[in-house]
Amino acid sequence: MKSDAYPMYCAPRCTAKSKRTGQPCRNPAVRGWKVCRMHGAGGGAKPGKAHPNYRHGARSQGADMLRQLINALGADSRRTIQDLTASKRTDLTRFEVSSKNEAVTHQKDDLD
Ligand SMILES: [Zn+2]
Repeated sequence: MKSDAYPMYCAPRCTAKSKRTGQPCRNPAVRGWKVCRMHGAGGGAKPGKAHPNYRHGARSQGADMLRQLINALGADSRRTIQDLTASKRTDLTRFEVSSKNEAVTHQKDDLD
């Protein structure tokens, strides 16, 4: 009787390597993981609020991504302001980038 099932020896192998010999583990990897059951598959804490060390979420992956996005937008806007300030357009010469590069200040004495 021949089985049509996926043969066991074709299963993806564990990517762990021995500390002493440097040889690969060669055990079959757990489905959905790159390692076998003895090398950490199925282990680890749950992400997010289910993690036992979760406090307030200010340093969570989502908050970090949001912070990086905001920083990138700020840097981009500062670059744009510098480019516009460097250009010789008369209507933009009234605007100037502050010394800390944090905000755009509007000089009232130039308004006249
Ligand atoms: Zn392994």
